[in-house]
Amino acid sequence: MKNTTAAALKDLNIKGQKSLCPPVSRISIGLATCGQATGAINLNRVLAGKKDLAGIAKVVTVGCLGACYAEPLVSVRTPDGTHYFYGKLDKQSLWHIIRAAKGEPVRQNRLAVAREREKGVLRGIQDLEFTEISSSHFERFLKPQLKRVTRRCGLIDPRNLNEYVAMEGYQALAQALFQLRPHQVIAAVEASGLRGRGGAGFPTGQKWRIAAGNPDPVKIVIANADEGDPGAYMDRALLESDPHSVLEGLILAGYAIGASTAYIFIRHEYSLAIRTLRKAISDAQAAGLLGERILGSDYSLEVIPVESAGAFVCGEETALLQIIENKRGEPRLRPPYPAAGGLWEHPTVVNNIETLANIPWILLHGPDDFRQVGTAKSPGTKIFCLTGDVKRMGFIEVPLGLSTQVLVEQIGGAAKDSVKALQIGGPSGGIIPYKNFQLDYETLSTAGAIMGSGGLVVLGYNRCVVDLARHLVHFMADESCGKCVACRDGLPQLELK
Ligand code: SF4
Repeated sequence: MKNTTAAALKDLNIKGQKSLCPPVSRISIGLATCGQATGAINLNRVLAGKKDLAGIAKVVTVGCLGACYAEPLVSVRTPDGTHYFYGKLDKQSLWHIIRAAKGEPVRQNRLAVAREREKGVLRGIQDLEFTEISSSHFERFLKPQLKRVTRRCGLIDPRNLNEYVAMEGYQALAQALFQLRPHQVIAAVEASGLRGRGGAGFPTGQKWRIAAGNPDPVKIVIANADEGDPGAYMDRALLESDPHSVLEGLILAGYAIGASTAYIFIRHEYSLAIRTLRKAISDAQAAGLLGERILGSDYSLEVIPVESAGAFVCGEETALLQIIENKRGEPRLRPPYPAAGGLWEHPTVVNNIETLANIPWILLHGPDDFRQVGTAKSPGTKIFCLTGDVKRMGFIEVPLGLSTQVLVEQIGGAAKDSVKALQIGGPSGGIIPYKNFQLDYETLSTAGAIMGSGGLVVLGYNRCVVDLARHLVHFMADESCGKCVACRDGLPQLELK
């Protein structure tokens, strides 16, 4: 690694560590969409205005820790490296936060207490040892999870580049730019077995190799954040909570295939994610992590955010190419697939947000470590958004191949006999009668569904599956492009049945 690069990142790292582990208490308020929806904006306003916290605590805003059921969620780090997590807060219970910040923690509303394994070292939630789980709900929610991609979510301020760097951020990029050739990056991703996290699970490394091997000198990479599956909000939560992890993955993808232009195609309703992402892009550019000669290397990449046109079909990978080309948002006939002939017919890699956020982890820890969890054909972890008839809904990350029983009953807290079916894979996925099975690409395909992006809607016995099917058909009829007879005429006919 060049000295200038190492020095620049070291400087950001030191600033980030100081910000994450200050000499006073740090109050972190979850202000992602889920926190905002439950009143966290007001709590932030009250806490930020508390004069008696001056000199005792600094108040920052963070993204989503994942426990959406427990929002508004606030954590307090005291100068001795202890973290207190509080949930379901309101104005009346805010004094618990103030007392914790003053070193007088109380148990009410407390979810858990954790200590930094090494005081002052915080690279993600894995550096915290939970010494007390005060809420049995939180314990059952957290214990089966393995947070890799989401390890920083809810701990760092997503608008603070320094904090991202302090948590191993942009280290994989620096290593790749100065120690690995692009084909070695592709080889590492291939060896990891990472499969696309947004749909049918196509191997990511294989997609990159096809694009990289194309003789066309112009190559393009696109991050697809046009999330539209009902119940799925992992892209939004990742971008609101840890946008630089997606940017770093995108730059690595661009480096691997030889792209000099990248797009981030993002759902236009995601206003907070868009604002957070735009700030991340501009901060990364200012720090030399994006743009011309990244970190002093020979590699340059321009990243252009594009807001989607709105309809569900626009998230389909060839429809989004049409939109970026200023054409009507409808899917293209394939082949050619985008990796062979995509945007303006140039080889184009379209990757989902979670897929990209996995890339820095794979390069930092190696493909073998990545494969330590998951199954042989579906290695690694997967983020699911667990919603519907569960006690504990949330944005969770678990090893692929985990059983539905652990996901739905342990993490979600649903009683076994209360669950009728699972809706997974988005509107074109499937509604599967509830039973215990492994959640991986192969098992879901055998069961008649697809993984999709990971929206998992739990349906209790009080839900009518016919009503849901009708709703999904209506959704598809409304949101498809109308190019083909089956969609244009068939779906409205189905709606009438
Ligand atoms: S009409 Fe339906 S099937 Fe045909 S391209 Fe549009 S969304 Fe796809």
